[in-house]
Amino acid sequence: MCLMKRLPCIFLDTPAVYLVRKIPISNRSIKRIRMNESVVMKPQAVKSFRKSLLRWYERHHRALPWRGLQHDPYAVWVSEVMLQQTRVQSVVPFFERFLKTFPDIVHLARADLQDVLLAWEGMGYYARARNLHQAAKIVVSRYGGKLPASFIDFYKLPGVGDYISSAVMSIAFQQPYAVVDGNVKRVLARLFELDWPLNSAASHKRFKGMAEILLDPEVPGIFNQAVMELGAVVCAIKHPLCRLCPGRTWCRAFLSDRTDVYPRRIQRNPLPEHRIAVGVVFKNGRVLITRRKPEGLLGGLWEFPGGKVQADEDAETACIREIKEEVNLVVAVEKPFAKVKHAYTHFKIVMDVFLCRMVSGSVHLKGPVDYRWAGPDDLLRFPFPGANRKFIPQLLGQWSA
Ligand code: SF4
Repeated sequence: MCLMKRLPCIFLDTPAVYLVRKIPISNRSIKRIRMNESVVMKPQAVKSFRKSLLRWYERHHRALPWRGLQHDPYAVWVSEVMLQQTRVQSVVPFFERFLKTFPDIVHLARADLQDVLLAWEGMGYYARARNLHQAAKIVVSRYGGKLPASFIDFYKLPGVGDYISSAVMSIAFQQPYAVVDGNVKRVLARLFELDWPLNSAASHKRFKGMAEILLDPEVPGIFNQAVMELGAVVCAIKHPLCRLCPGRTWCRAFLSDRTDVYPRRIQRNPLPEHRIAVGVVFKNGRVLITRRKPEGLLGGLWEFPGGKVQADEDAETACIREIKEEVNLVVAVEKPFAKVKHAYTHFKIVMDVFLCRMVSGSVHLKGPVDYRWAGPDDLLRFPFPGANRKFIPQLLGQWSA
């Protein structure tokens, strides 16, 4: 049954139990979501809100490279994978470079993983690039190079979760799936003064339920983009521009002057910080680099050998020990070279980099899956993690000096 036909019974003023549209990945046809809040918007208001939002989006949306490519499901897919947890303006150059390198799914499927990682370098979250590459191969072999226009079939591909599948199905195939990211949650939390923490997995389903209800089934792709755009450019985390907002007539947080109260968040502990020691080992004018295992954090990338500094040692000792354990070389530290700070999703690192001289031994790998004695060109040609990339320009300068 069409969701909108249910609206009159959904948006009554008192009940605490809502019916929401069938969630496609569930086997149950109807999901019940229990909420503490009273219901927030009447059917006519929902229609007016949609209309106001869509009009605003049509006039004010930003010109972004993927917005002219919505007829191309591959381009939509790539853009949405990149946009997860990454700011729009940061994504633009990566998206353009990636599409230039791999203009369609067949090019991507046939590419070497190393070239895919190189095109992705700087974006972080390298598992996404590996999954995208793997999924492209499956689409080519199983679907003849055409993205499946089915939520379930698309959802089954590596790296495709509810967000990506909903985004691609709605934007590229005009199917009625609501997209929920941080921007959407913030808008919903303020519109309806929702107390659900933004950063809690448990509340994600509830936001999804609200987004499904608000979604315009006539133009789901545009509507999803409009809500995300509103969150990104108007309903900002700090100082939302409510006077410019097409939703202010219905926004509870604005009307009650409590936009600073919403969204709620669970306070998390600060990220743990690890100390890392890394060696740039020279031999005959070349340096040793190793390749990480294909899976896991930074999988498939190249790096300089090294590892964690233990509690009872200094960084220099750790550098020598790690290189012996990892590649079986005995090295001597010549001098400290750089100190790099870098943040990942769940931890931060402080990395001490040392210039090293080989003393003895030959390379036997324990952990890495490959190695090279690399020249300057290789350091530009191979994909490296962001923390390594931060000191490579300084290293190249030293080489040419
Ligand atoms: Fe956000 Fe203000 Fe719009 Fe409410 S009125 S949705 S707080 S920008």
